[in-house]
Amino acid sequence: MKKREEQIVDKKFSWEENIRKVVPYVPGEQPKCQNMIKLNTNECPYPPSPLVEKALREFDHRDLRLYPDPNASILTEELAKYYGVEAEQVFVGVGSDDVLAMAFMTFFNSGSPILFPDITYSFYDVWAELYRIPYKMIPLKEDFTIDPKDYQVENGGIVLPNPNAPTGILESLAFIEEILTANRDVVVIVDEAYIDFGGESALPLLKKYDNLLIVQTFSKSRAMAGMRIGYAIGNEKLISYLHHVKFSFNSYTMDSITLSLGTASVKDEAYFRETLAKVIKTREWSKEKLKELGFIFEDSKSNFIFASHPEKKAEEIYAYLRSKNIFVRYFKKPRIDNYLRISIGTDEEMEILVKELTEFLM
Ligand code: PMP
Repeated sequence: MKKREEQIVDKKFSWEENIRKVVPYVPGEQPKCQNMIKLNTNECPYPPSPLVEKALREFDHRDLRLYPDPNASILTEELAKYYGVEAEQVFVGVGSDDVLAMAFMTFFNSGSPILFPDITYSFYDVWAELYRIPYKMIPLKEDFTIDPKDYQVENGGIVLPNPNAPTGILESLAFIEEILTANRDVVVIVDEAYIDFGGESALPLLKKYDNLLIVQTFSKSRAMAGMRIGYAIGNEKLISYLHHVKFSFNSYTMDSITLSLGTASVKDEAYFRETLAKVIKTREWSKEKLKELGFIFEDSKSNFIFASHPEKKAEEIYAYLRSKNIFVRYFKKPRIDNYLRISIGTDEEMEILVKELTEFLM
């Protein structure tokens, strides 16, 4: 006789045949332990702007009885002002994951495969599977850069992160423009989750390319991953299609606290720049130290370093660091299973990381 739990697992129900079955995306671990050094999900090691704290303290809880503004106007308008675009060119959502998922559903319906790199943000293929969008993963070159020529084939749309994740490699605006020029009749999404850490945004290309959608997030450079704010900027018509899909789904994706705190963050440019400068400085220091320890990596313009060591297996380094309560990201996947993605923490955190790595490697 099988145990009851085994019987439950084995049993196939007649209704299962018509279920939408998906293999879900696995987000980075959020460990609960105390005193850990968390370098595994590219969060910002510093708090959000003091203006965000002020907005949180001043938020009147009695306002929670009302539905939030379905148009998320205060945040949309603040972002439009910040980027020098029209409010109609901005779309906001619950993290850029929400914005990207909505964009996949809205823009990728041609029947031709959409294109993205084989080594990239591992949510893209999950959305493609979820919405049954055909897709083709284009192998990155040996050095993990993208060959724009690979994107000059028949396709139903393109999605590229710049800088790419998890490699951290930044491509130039000329590169993005080459892809856009060759693909005028499909939507090209440039996922700029990490652009603030030293890249040049594709925003200036919006004037020339009505098929360009730029997606950014508050989760990394604005230190607000817990708040869940992402946004897209593009041609007014493109954005209006996104709104139609959003309003066919859930009118109130952005809650009123989020709208207020997100708007406060955009208003504090000085703090934003100061935080970015600190992360970039620590990143450059960390690159030097990792190089001294023998790590190999392509140059990163993001808030993480994607590195491998010629003498020690990444999985072993990962396990050792974990035993010391230092969490980095390890992907057991073809081509990258000997790499670690190390998010940039505070100076103190990175010093401890380097000290532990030195002990393990020497
Ligand atoms: N794009 C890329 C390339 C990412 O690495 C992430 C972070 N997991 C996201 C989008 C989504 O970030 P969020 O939903 O927090 O805005």
